[in-house]
Amino acid sequence: MPRNRRRRKRRWRKGRCAAMLAVAILIVAGVVFFVRGGATKYTSINDGLGESLVKANESAIDTSTGKDLKKSLYVPRKIDTSKPMIAFTFDDGPKKGNTTRVVKALEKYDYRATFFMLGLSAATYPDEVKTVLKSGNEISGHSWNHPQLTKIGASGVASQITRMNNAISKVTNSDVGLVRPPYGAYNDMVRATIDAPLVLWSIDTLDWKTRNVDATVNNILKNAKDGDIVLMHDIHIQTVEAVEKVLPQLKEKGYEVCTVSELLEAKKIKAEKGDVIISAHQIIKKK
Ligand SMILES: [Zn+2]
Repeated sequence: MPRNRRRRKRRWRKGRCAAMLAVAILIVAGVVFFVRGGATKYTSINDGLGESLVKANESAIDTSTGKDLKKSLYVPRKIDTSKPMIAFTFDDGPKKGNTTRVVKALEKYDYRATFFMLGLSAATYPDEVKTVLKSGNEISGHSWNHPQLTKIGASGVASQITRMNNAISKVTNSDVGLVRPPYGAYNDMVRATIDAPLVLWSIDTLDWKTRNVDATVNNILKNAKDGDIVLMHDIHIQTVEAVEKVLPQLKEKGYEVCTVSELLEAKKIKAEKGDVIISAHQIIKKK
């Protein structure tokens, strides 16, 4: 074969290789896009949009308006409110690794939950707080370091909430909207001092006591009904495993697992400071 013909042939082969590679990349990209497009990611998309719009206009709005504006810019994720809804709640975290695993399990079924965080743990694991925030789950408060609020006086309660909000807002840029008092302990003083509705629960999985995956799973499957608020603790690895096990079963049964705020909104409940929420069907209004 003449030398320049061989060279031309080699060049042609190279060109064909590059073309085939480009086609292969296009096919893979198409498949990835198609598969990813199937999952709903409303919250994260709108989260980002809301965030950047607020940031761009930060100088023109004061902080309180900023918080409301931010809220109004977020389009809630698509939830089928005709389905039975149960709010999952996780106390005492975040905990490194565990919290992220719970978030991932929820995301797999397009579910969300509320995390009642301790300020101390949020300060220790800010990356876990960020993961919860960015995934469209709800960050709420559980005091700074878990004292029984009814025993520490109004100034003690106020300081617990302030320290907690300072730690959490370092990541979220806002105070928490809901508070769960440690041990579910509250009285009139606690209700009057905390500037948020208090959220208790209607289903206690006793996950902290049994530390048993199946006991927690069965407790939820046996008891959960529309409007319930389920209490769990993401600091225990058995709870993380129970969540991974129970979610596909709840999906199969047609439940929507959601945050406390999503549950209240779906049931058209307006919760205020001083209210105590036990479930969507049981609320103790402030006097
Ligand atoms: Zn607790």
